Amino acid sequence: MNTSNNVAQPVHIDRVRKTFGEFVAVREMSLDIAAGEFVTFLGPSGCGKSTTLKMLSGLLPQDSGEIRFGHKRIDMLPPNKRNIGLVFQNYALFPHMSVAENIAFGLRMRGWSRAAKDKRVDQLLQLVRLEGLGGRKPEQLSGGQQQRVAVARALAFNPDLVLLDEPLSNLDAKLREQVRLDLRDIQREANQTTIFVTHDQVEALVMSDRIVLMNKGGVEQVGTPYELYATPTTEFGARFVGANNLVAATLDMSSGTAQARIGADLALPITTCAADLDKDGTTIWFCVRPEHLALRPWNKEGEGQFAGRVLDKIYQGTTVLVDLDVTGLGTIRAERAALEVGDLPIGAYIGVHIERSHAVARSTG
Ligand code: ATP
Repeated sequence: MNTSNNVAQPVHIDRVRKTFGEFVAVREMSLDIAAGEFVTFLGPSGCGKSTTLKMLSGLLPQDSGEIRFGHKRIDMLPPNKRNIGLVFQNYALFPHMSVAENIAFGLRMRGWSRAAKDKRVDQLLQLVRLEGLGGRKPEQLSGGQQQRVAVARALAFNPDLVLLDEPLSNLDAKLREQVRLDLRDIQREANQTTIFVTHDQVEALVMSDRIVLMNKGGVEQVGTPYELYATPTTEFGARFVGANNLVAATLDMSSGTAQARIGADLALPITTCAADLDKDGTTIWFCVRPEHLALRPWNKEGEGQFAGRVLDKIYQGTTVLVDLDVTGLGTIRAERAALEVGDLPIGAYIGVHIERSHAVARSTG
């Protein structure tokens, strides 16, 4: 039995669809995942994340479409023939087995020799930084350590694909922050093609090479964390990843550059615009991220400046969220360095500058 790390496989999901009666849970999903890539399925409850995972792992048959690992079609195979490592939110470690026995479980099932098994378990204990703890029972470990054992068990047999189904949701907030970085590092070192499922945008932004944003059984946008945050293409994407600050507007291309027309006489420059939004008169959302609203002392003469009244301030340590009522734009939120905001009183009038903004499609539904 070969114990060397196998070569990571690309994964192809090709027009996969799943319905439950009349209800479409996953609509024609297509996605190519590169070998060794860490991809996150992100979306609200009910958007079809788990259903897609179940089709990948073989727990649910798809209605149509294909799934391939490299060139090999796997969607006709039973779950135990798909060579997938699974990690669930409840770890599902075997309580009566030691840490080492848990990690070796899949190797035993696959008939690895004792020597090969021991060597691989040592490698994985090192990878998940649990050297010396192989003899312990799961109950003698912390929650974060138990989750690392579950990850080691899933990686042990060199799977073609690792599926992580909300693996951090049972951990408390502090531990979750640490374990998500651990998981990301382990995945990078192991270089296994990985799909991670979460409804937590911060987890997705921190951990992923690419994010697949899902909504109502469909894919809204696929991109790097930066792309999803900096250039959301839909209203849903702009709202789900990052804070709102969306204002209804009309795209105005009459000056040669993209502007957002709000009401009769307000036209604001747009620095980035979703690719398919180039038609004059298109109904759009004008989106400004909180960190792109600069606050200055109010000066009526100031160019490109709006009058804003401070409604509330929320200190977060290094930054402050400032809720503002801005003439022409309504209620929006700025995020600035705490040192810059200082003792700005609630009710004060200040100058608000838009440093960067973009247009996103208005949903027609
Ligand atoms: P969560 O984050 O809550 O786990 P999810 O994105 O994983 O949500 P899915 O579990 O994939 O969502 O469910 C997608 C949709 O399909 C939901 O509306 C759900 O009610 C529906 N669904 C899932 N399984 C079945 C089933 N066996 N029969 C009928 N409807 C189902």
